Amino acid sequence: MAMAETLVIVGASYAGVQLAASARELGFSAPIVLLGDEVHAPYQRPPLSKGLLSGKTTADQLALRGPDFYAEQGIELRLGVRATAIDVAAQRVQLADGGTLDYGWLALATGARCRPLPVPGAQLRGVHALRTLDDALAVQAAVTACGPGRRACVIGGGFIGLEVAAALKAAGAEVTVIEGQPRLLARSFPPAMSDYVADAHRQRGLTLELGCGVQALQGDASGQVQAVQLADGRLLPCDMVVLGIGVLPNTELAEAAGIACAGGILVDGLSRTSAPQVLAMGDVANMALPAVAALPGGPERMRLESIQAANDGARAAASLIAGRPQPLSAVPWFWSEQHELKFQMAGLPAPGDQCVLRGDMASDRFTLFYLRDGAVAAAHSVNRPAEHMLARKLIAGRAQIPPEVLADAASDLKAFSTLRPAG
Ligand code: FAD
Ligand code: NAP
Repeated sequence: MAMAETLVIVGASYAGVQLAASARELGFSAPIVLLGDEVHAPYQRPPLSKGLLSGKTTADQLALRGPDFYAEQGIELRLGVRATAIDVAAQRVQLADGGTLDYGWLALATGARCRPLPVPGAQLRGVHALRTLDDALAVQAAVTACGPGRRACVIGGGFIGLEVAAALKAAGAEVTVIEGQPRLLARSFPPAMSDYVADAHRQRGLTLELGCGVQALQGDASGQVQAVQLADGRLLPCDMVVLGIGVLPNTELAEAAGIACAGGILVDGLSRTSAPQVLAMGDVANMALPAVAALPGGPERMRLESIQAANDGARAAASLIAGRPQPLSAVPWFWSEQHELKFQMAGLPAPGDQCVLRGDMASDRFTLFYLRDGAVAAAHSVNRPAEHMLARKLIAGRAQIPPEVLADAASDLKAFSTLRPAG
């Protein structure tokens, strides 16, 4: 049981923790219960495919907040507890342990889970998905057990696949990345960036199999994976496989409760779902995107799988429940680290954008700007953090910059930032 004015948050990761924290910051004083079905205290996911695998980060450095944060903020953190049903009429959540919680506000921050690989052999030992700390510790143990020079196949050439591939390479493995699409990162990057990324990985010793489906995974008599069979019949021998083939939003709770979903839980700019007093944010939410939709050709809404989107959706929801509604308006941004390359992405490119390169791809220090109707709509930077920060302002201000000025690395772009502080 909980009091009827309680904020119950299902999912104790980025979105859930940020909502609880922001609600308190904005003066929400009713009880907050933060439920998570994992047993670990909320932790950072990005290092799971980066520093944790290469040994730069250890598991005890991953806590999202300090150990005293939840008690100090009056947030009841309940771990290892799964919500199993919602009664929206009674404003009640059913828990797997048989308990119930009454809510004044309910937030669904249930995130996403790894898409399963639909081929024979996917359950073999040595085949790893990567979403949770436990998944990452299993991959880390496998890397150590494999030792230098052993062979890893990474299936999926998205962010997870490429980050893991780079980390496995750094740990001494021979790595092959298998991607079904004809190019890497096709969901996020246009062809020019995909080509750059492919060259960068090949130069650093990775083997890429692009436009290549997987037919089966083959194991030895003990059930340990020993080869990937590609759709064209070729066999790639390996000691371990890591899957990075995308995620599925955890919408089941919402769907069963009759809350509108379409490729995620549908929410507006204040993270409101179709049900009264029920909010959703983070990887599970298909969110309205005013900053993107304002540009010609920009999507009205989508599911953005990034930490910034989870935090921003949570902040918008917190502003609503604290009685100071402030709809989401930020330009989407996210980052990735592969080898020594720091990728920073701002805005969402669209087909037909004019690409303007500033800097030199060969030196691994550049920004690719995307102009739409003459205005900066998106930017992808590699090892250019200051330019990325500026790009976010230029996109928010829809700065009109002549392509030749953008392309001139010596030009001062700050002059085009309408959002720069006065003076
Ligand atoms: P999640 O982090 O998925 O958390 C949802 C939580 O809810 C989970 O703990 C889940 O177990 C729990 N839950 C689900 N259902 C229930 C239930 N019924 N009851 C109780 N609990 C439930 N993004 C970036 O921007 N930059 C990066 O560099 C980056 N790197 C990443 C690396 C890895 C390896 C992974 C996996 C993701 C990475 N991401 C990165 C994506 C980022 O982690 C996600 O966008 C973010 O975690 C989304 O947060 P969330 O709170 O919405 O969902
Ligand atoms: P992703 O970005 O969706 O990429 C998965 C890739 O694998 C896609 O190109 C997909 O192609 C391909 N694929 C799917 N099935 C395949 C198969 N059977 N064989 C070969 N290739 C296949 O997802 P992800 O890289 O797994 O990442 C998962 C989640 O973590 C995402 O939410 C991502 O945003 C997040 N993440 C983010 C970051 C970051 O922001 N830096 C880092 C790591 C992870 P199709 O599109 O054709 O299916």
